[in-house]
Amino acid sequence: MDNYNIETLCVQAGWQPTTGEPRVLPIYQSTTFKYDTSDAMGRLFDLEDSGYFYTRLQNPTNDYVADKICKLEGGVAAMLTSSGQAANYYAVFNITEAGDHVIMSSKIYGGTFNLLTFTMKKMGIECTVVDPDIEEDELNGLFKANTKCVLAESISNPSGVVLDFEKFVRAAHAHGVPLIVDNTFPTPINCRPFEWGVDIVTHSTTKYMDGHAMCVGGCIVDSGNFDWNKYPDKYPGLTTPDESYHGLIYTERFGKAAYITKATTHLMRDLGSIPSPQNSFLLNVGLETLHLRVPKHCANALAVAGYLKSHEKVAWVSYAGLEDDPYHELAMKYMPNGTCGVLCFGIKGGREASIAFMDKLKLACIVTHVADARTCVLHPASHTHRQMTDEQLIEAGVQPDLIRFSVGIENVNDIIADLEQALA
Ligand SMILES: *Cc1c(COP(=O)(O)O)cnc(C)c1O
Repeated sequence: MDNYNIETLCVQAGWQPTTGEPRVLPIYQSTTFKYDTSDAMGRLFDLEDSGYFYTRLQNPTNDYVADKICKLEGGVAAMLTSSGQAANYYAVFNITEAGDHVIMSSKIYGGTFNLLTFTMKKMGIECTVVDPDIEEDELNGLFKANTKCVLAESISNPSGVVLDFEKFVRAAHAHGVPLIVDNTFPTPINCRPFEWGVDIVTHSTTKYMDGHAMCVGGCIVDSGNFDWNKYPDKYPGLTTPDESYHGLIYTERFGKAAYITKATTHLMRDLGSIPSPQNSFLLNVGLETLHLRVPKHCANALAVAGYLKSHEKVAWVSYAGLEDDPYHELAMKYMPNGTCGVLCFGIKGGREASIAFMDKLKLACIVTHVADARTCVLHPASHTHRQMTDEQLIEAGVQPDLIRFSVGIENVNDIIADLEQALA
């Protein structure tokens, strides 16, 4: 499978039936798995053998889908989680504990912002929030002895900021910590962060990967490139004996799979954010057309962005696909085939005018969702980012009048006609 192009991987990677087995990925709708001897089961609990024993930790259907996403990203190991929130939480918490410090981009999904600055803060993990356009020198000055990772989004939701991967990779690696990138918006079809030196990628599979707004889900993929053993004092969870597994050392026993194995054996075991096999089956159906849908989303979004840009009632448009967008140059470098189908704009007349306009849309529905086949629209300041103060909104790149418009894969003329009548 490894030598195939990404379109082929979307369709065929993961489940590989042998003779007489189902052609389509089976749903292993079972919490538990049978063994012939007590000893055989015991060896699984000691991590002596690999195998399935309880779906809270691992399930075959989930793992085949994780394997597909792993190959799409070009990683060495991956795990599915029950949501994108769980993916980002596990990705960070797998290598942090109370007393540690994390650096996070300010241009980030509202849920991730709350997770790091509110919930994980309560767990004793401190977070410094930085503007992704920060000068490299200034970024370098923010690392501390207890900094354990840097977290950012390849294209930020909702503000559409494209990350300068090389700047963040250099800074993270100069301080001996991994860069974790949430690659939900461009998907591996448009951007493969590992090729730019990123260490770990996360996804909300809820968005384009599922593509039909059917299942909430997440994924973590490890590039296998970060050398935990180079900084043994920093990542004791991976490099020193684990008392909850008879003193085994993850990097010694599992090599490049250490990070994902620990996330499974610790975080899934103890916190249990596993997706249901049924949902993973549906996610896999979505993945089979990811390579067809993403370019269509991008082409439609570019046409919509161009239309809005030239409309007299529209105050501003933000879409990195537009040539005069401040992030166009970074987009051309890191995702030359396209960015994503999500764009932002504001209506002249501010917050109230934007809200009134949204209520007039017919084809584009107001939903708390983004990045699926159906065009949809949201006003972050009144919805997803409602908890934030105006100051925090601006810091997160969310102007109070910002409309997040997720362009679907319908006929683009119908989408533009809907905008036209609502603007009128
Ligand atoms: C939606 C989203 C999340 C959270 O994912 P859920 O699946 O809703 O938990 C995280 N990151 C980004 C970029 C998202 O768009």
